[in-house]
Amino acid sequence: MSKFWSDIVADLHPYVAGEQPRIANLTKLNTNENPYGPSPKALEAIKTAADERLRLYPDPVALELREAIAARYGVTADEVFVGNGSDEVLAHTFAALLKHEKPLLYPDISYSFYPVYCQLYDIAAETVPLDADFAIRPADYDRDCGAIILPNPNAPTGRALTLDEIRELLNAHRDIPVVIDEAYVDFGAESAVTLVKDYDNLLVVQTFSKSRSLAGMRVGFAIGQRPLIDALERVKDSFNSYPLDRLVQVAAKASIEDEAWFEECRAKVITTRDWLTDALEALGFDVLPSKANFVFAKHETVGGGELYAGLRERAVLVRHFNKPRIADYLRMTIGTQGECEKLVAALKEILT
Ligand SMILES: *Cc1c(COP(=O)(O)O)cnc(C)c1O
Repeated sequence: MSKFWSDIVADLHPYVAGEQPRIANLTKLNTNENPYGPSPKALEAIKTAADERLRLYPDPVALELREAIAARYGVTADEVFVGNGSDEVLAHTFAALLKHEKPLLYPDISYSFYPVYCQLYDIAAETVPLDADFAIRPADYDRDCGAIILPNPNAPTGRALTLDEIRELLNAHRDIPVVIDEAYVDFGAESAVTLVKDYDNLLVVQTFSKSRSLAGMRVGFAIGQRPLIDALERVKDSFNSYPLDRLVQVAAKASIEDEAWFEECRAKVITTRDWLTDALEALGFDVLPSKANFVFAKHETVGGGELYAGLRERAVLVRHFNKPRIADYLRMTIGTQGECEKLVAALKEILT
């Protein structure tokens, strides 16, 4: 608190990101980073672009990157918006599309940045409870509202809606914006990008941080029909004209064009996820069915806080949310097979 602060700053409850601690030989499974590196072509593109041209501003509209994303998803470049991480894309989305007289709806257990943006932009919101199995039920959103946002797969549960369920949600809300945050979609869920042509109220948000291993470069994007993208551009150009630097633009373009690397890495993550799910179940965990690069699981007898602390002592870091309904759960990122074996070995030690 300081007398120099504006009123809004004192009242903010900022998002708390997963830790990036300095612990020797840490097995870091707490922030859903991808254990495999970015496409070698992306690294090469960065090296080639790192020269005296950095004195020049980057392309403010990142046209070549947007064209590459458009080609990959079968849309046009003017239906693609890019930003400094999908967190920035989401922030602009909240300001541009989700503030209305009627409340914004999102799940009670979901990405904890949503309430933070609501507070920052003074957006009225209501949460909709997940069902007893931590699933989102589209019918529960049948209430008077101004907009809807939900992650698919949801975080931190990992559970996904089918494309039919997303369509059901869109059909029930044709006159309000519906935003699907697909940060984890590449690990096994169905993307709603194919529905963009049929629904003028749908915005799909994705990121390069998870399935494309570029969390350190900060790049995310949204796909939607022109009026929605136009709204995002208006906010962006009232905020920062150059959110993506020169190196990011070439790296992300090379990454999205390297389909083989993408397929290989996500297949490895999915294989390890299935292995880890079986191993956790054998240790007495209840594991939610995950379509993401993490699993959300609860032990039959030992609490989440205790397991989190025991793992930390053994230099294995996972995420624990001390919140209603989920305090007994751990969210464990899918690392390499070796990292997940270390996690299971540490859990065995704690549980015996
Ligand atoms: C990780 C994550 C994001 C943000 O990703 P960026 O790194 O900012 O691109 C957005 N939504 C959800 C649900 C996430 O888990």
